[in-house]
This record gives sequence, structure tokens and C-alpha cells, in this order.
Amino acid sequence: MTEVDPQAWMSRPFAPSLSRGVADRTEDLRLPFRTRQTWPTAKVLVVDPQGRVGATSRDDVVQLDWLDSSRIGPEVPDEAVLLGEYQGTDYWAVPGQTPELQGLTDDGWAAVGGGLREWGAVLGDLEAGLLTSAVAVLGWHHRSPFCPTCGERSTPTSAGWSRMCPQGHQEFPRTDPAVIMLVHDGADRAVLARQPSWPPHRYSVLAGFTEAGESLEATVRREVAEEVGVVVDEVRYLGSQPWPFPRSLMVGFAARTTPGAPLFPRDGEIEHARWVTREEVRKVLANDGVGEDLMMPPSISIARKMIEAWAAG
Ligand SMILES: [Zn+2]
Repeated sequence: MTEVDPQAWMSRPFAPSLSRGVADRTEDLRLPFRTRQTWPTAKVLVVDPQGRVGATSRDDVVQLDWLDSSRIGPEVPDEAVLLGEYQGTDYWAVPGQTPELQGLTDDGWAAVGGGLREWGAVLGDLEAGLLTSAVAVLGWHHRSPFCPTCGERSTPTSAGWSRMCPQGHQEFPRTDPAVIMLVHDGADRAVLARQPSWPPHRYSVLAGFTEAGESLEATVRREVAEEVGVVVDEVRYLGSQPWPFPRSLMVGFAARTTPGAPLFPRDGEIEHARWVTREEVRKVLANDGVGEDLMMPPSISIARKMIEAWAAG
């Protein structure tokens, strides 16, 4: 029998739901002479100010309602964002109102409205990536109508991937890095914690925003110390997931600490923190993430994927 390495899970690839995008996002695709040519065959998704879109669903399958570009207009609208190209088709998003959808279509699909939080984990790879980009970029346009340099109104440029004001100041979509870390003991135990605002028994890994001038690794060490009073030695990168609620990038790490280190939850931020075993967590995961006194974070979160990867061992 070969000995199982309790840290082997860190080297295995894992795929957060919103990191599965497969569309080509090359900058050259956004050149105006090209998008003018490809617009007539493009597909367009209408996204409302809350990030909701139309879709049809049957059983566990959800497909977004992509409109033919002719339904939008003969030319690319100023506020449209080119999400990417896939197998010869350009996919765009435009801000607008999605119709209130209800009821069954002829072939038994239900027409529904919803967003990334509901569908991020069940959409296919292509649509999960496209909807994530659409919510992130359209949300940025919605919140950023003015130039941060001079205060004048700016307009979208580069097929929606930047904004320019009359003075020529260019601005790009902002993303805030946040770290999320699974604190473990190098063997079979890990730290989970809960915030006061969460549903009863929900526990997850620790997380926090990177501050200006701080490295990701330093953020991991600082946040773990702040939230549960524990010092970590080894910090290893696991993977990342865009989290456009409204503009974060969750960067996942494994952080090792002393086995059985006492936990000191930070008042107001962490209601309770605890050591859990792999066995305990496996049982909960096998029951769809619901245990008697331990509920896992939702499937769409990178936290869930990190916990699953660790529990698999
Ligand atoms: Zn300006």
C-alpha cells in the first residue's frame, strides 16, 4: 500500500463554476472594423440592471436566451459589450429590461428569468463564462458613467471593454482582489468559520479583501490572524474565480497552521470558528452539503470547491 499524502489535494486541478469560460477574449476581436463585419451573425444577451437575464430550463438544464443581433438593430449599439467569440460566433451583451418570463414553451421548456447566482453552477462552460463577463462589465458601466480623472461623462470604447471621456482619459473595468483560504493542519483537519449574518449552521473557509500595497500572501496571513488569531506558515495558491458581486476576484489559497491551534474568532466578524475533520466534512458533502450542525457554502462559490477538493484528500 502506498502512503496517502495529506497535501496531495493542493496539486490537483479544480474548476470553480464561474472560471469555466471557453470563449476567445483576444483584444483584436474588439476592433471596430471586425465587429461591424461580424455583427449580423452575432448572438446578444439582454441583461437588466440587477444582472438578470432570460433563459429556458428543463430538469436541471438551463440555456440562456440569446437573441439574433437583428432583433437589437442593424449596427452594434454603443453600450454593447463583446463578451467573446466561440466557434465562429460573436457573443455580446446589452443593458436592457428582460421580459417577465413565465410558463412553458411548446417543447416543454420553462421560460424563466434569473441571474448568475442562481445559474452559475448549472450553466454549461461557455454560457457560465459569458454570463460572468456580462454581469461584471455591464455592472461596471452602470456604476461608472463619469470619468474618475476629470469628472466629465464618459462613453464606452473597445467594444465595451473601456470608457473614454471627451478629454481622452481612458478607464478600464476595475476588479478587487480578495483572498479566500482553507486553513489546514497538514493532515486531516481544517478550520471552518461562520459569520453572524449567515443562515444557521452555515460554515465556510476564511476570506478577506487585499488592501492597497499588500501582496496576496500577506493578505492571507493577516486575515487568518485577524479572523481566528492563528499564525500560518506555508501558503499555497490553489486557483481563482471571478465574483462580480459587484467586482471581486476570489483568489484561493491553502494555508497551513499548527495542528489543533486554538481559535480566537474576531468579535463582530466571526461568530464561531471550529476545527473539522475530513471524515466529518465528507459526510456532509455526501448529503448535498447539509449536515446536522454543519452546512456547506453554495455550489457556485469557490469556497465550496476548495472544501470539496480538500475533503477528497
Ligand atoms: Zn476625463
